[in-house]
Amino acid sequence: MAEEVIVYPGSFDPVTYGHLDLIRRGIKIFNRVIVAVLSNPFKESFFPLVERLTMLREATQDIPGEFEIDAFDGLLIHYMREKQIRLVLRGLRAVSDFEYEFEMALTNRRLSGEVETIFMAPSENYIYLRASLVKEIALRGGNVGEFVPPNVERRLLARYREMHAMS
Ligand code: ADP
Repeated sequence: MAEEVIVYPGSFDPVTYGHLDLIRRGIKIFNRVIVAVLSNPFKESFFPLVERLTMLREATQDIPGEFEIDAFDGLLIHYMREKQIRLVLRGLRAVSDFEYEFEMALTNRRLSGEVETIFMAPSENYIYLRASLVKEIALRGGNVGEFVPPNVERRLLARYREMHAMS
């Protein structure tokens, strides 16, 4: 295989079973997957970067194969250049993802001609799973055990309790 390493970037705020599904699929095809968690000064995250990284590490403990969890800020293409990686992995859920993902892929290609984006579809069970929706459900007291691993569910529940203790 000519290309061995692929970067899977995202906010992972928090990691869901959809993300984990994609990581597993990526590992089967590429020799190494680098999950790169974005620290974005323009967009406030729900969980701080350190917590997002910890949750990902905990949730991927049992996944066999070659992968790494890293953090980056700034532009993805700069991170990739520094690491000398050319491939980006992104998930395509429903059609609703297409426009945004296509825009990102083509913009990254414009910024750096070497970058190539590979899209993968998750298992059908996760087609409508997005982190923002999971947070909304959890913070309104709903059960999210079907969508996120137990370590993430615990943290969401703790946040829910904190918020309700304050109000
Ligand atoms: P989200 O859109 O859930 O807030 P991220 O910004 O962390 O997620 O997304 C990182 C990448 O993971 C994106 O390419 C996104 O399409 C993909 N992804 C997120 N959730 C899923 C899912 N349920 N199935 C497949 N890919 C997903």
